Amino acid sequence: MNLFEKLVSDYDVSLDKNGVSGERLAARLAALSEIGLTPDKGSHRIGFSKEEKAAKDIVKKWMTEAGLTVTQDGAGNVFGRVEGKNPDLPALLSGSHVDSVPNGGHFDGPLGVLAALEVAEAWKQTGFVPERPYEVVIFSDEEGSRFNGGFSGSASMIGEATREEYLSKIDINGDSFTKVIEDIGLSVDEFFQSKRDLSKLEAFVEIHIEQGKRLERGGVPVGIVTGIAGPCWLKLTFTGRAGHAGNTPMNDRQDALVAAGQFIHEVQSLPGQVSSSAVATVGKIEVIPNGVNVIPGEVRLSVDIRDIQKETRDRLVDLVLEKAKTVSSAQGIELHIEETLREAPVPISKEMQQRLEKSVVAQGIEPVYLPSGAGHDSMIVGHVLPVAMIFVQSKDGVSHNPAEWTDLSDCVQSVHVLKDFVEGYDK
Ligand SMILES: [Zn+2]
Repeated sequence: MNLFEKLVSDYDVSLDKNGVSGERLAARLAALSEIGLTPDKGSHRIGFSKEEKAAKDIVKKWMTEAGLTVTQDGAGNVFGRVEGKNPDLPALLSGSHVDSVPNGGHFDGPLGVLAALEVAEAWKQTGFVPERPYEVVIFSDEEGSRFNGGFSGSASMIGEATREEYLSKIDINGDSFTKVIEDIGLSVDEFFQSKRDLSKLEAFVEIHIEQGKRLERGGVPVGIVTGIAGPCWLKLTFTGRAGHAGNTPMNDRQDALVAAGQFIHEVQSLPGQVSSSAVATVGKIEVIPNGVNVIPGEVRLSVDIRDIQKETRDRLVDLVLEKAKTVSSAQGIELHIEETLREAPVPISKEMQQRLEKSVVAQGIEPVYLPSGAGHDSMIVGHVLPVAMIFVQSKDGVSHNPAEWTDLSDCVQSVHVLKDFVEGYDK
């Protein structure tokens, strides 16, 4: 079964209403899946590649056919505009990205773009004209697989992509930023002139797959995102004394791995002390010298700490550091701390969450609230504009993988929620 057949096979056709078509959405998800299709049936469309461009080009064609006015900025961001009854009002913006990680899935990004476009398609059938302009957006290079960064399109649109940061970037093939940009027909000068007049934009609302299991466990198709967690990354080095595993008695050791191990074990009890959405993960560890008969002299490890509120996230960082200090000093281990990243979390306003709740309830769906642990274009746009985010159920929480899956019925439910949100925005 190909992707289209699989999507429509268990689709609840009663969701085809008010101009929304599940079959059209499925056909479009399937068409995009063909661009950069890998032998594992995954998606390979890294940012600023010809595959990402080809995916944008086909969506531009659909936008034009749906009657949207299509423009592209210097960063390659695509905007498809539906004029409002009052064209001078700031526009509502909805969309996501069409780039992927290497061998990724077919829903992370494309769903947000195609669902936003499906709202405009529905209006074409029903004749609805929104009060304010509505724009469908495709942001460039969200995943960051090319330069190990990401969010290039959304950062450019809000004026946060700087020459200093970008011109020094080298991509996975060793090519400069300038070469990469020029290879797909963009120009560096125009790239840095793609900031939009933000007074012309009202808010950004993004549909995205959850990439977790909460909605599946809750048995609901969609959820309301309460905020986007900001990560803080710590690099901790525990230094003890290496020695012979046979000749050093147990009471005369400074084993860096024993201290690090205790620390790792205790980290998991800390997030619950600050909030229910906070998380902390030790994901990377290096043992030196890493020999079978040598007492570990040094351990380097990473800690990834996130929450959706800055205050609780920062409190958790302090708790983690305190724990590392007490554990190491009790064992005569030296501790070195390096902070390599601290991104501000983006809380989503209560007002936006309530607007979404109304639209979720209007579809007969129980409103479920959940944080986003991963970063999205909404996190960047949220620096300057109000944002709202709708998560859609992910099968088994699998993402960034060819097995990524979301049922078509759940995708279409998210379209109805978005459509209701936009149509009711000025009521
Ligand atoms: Zn994404």
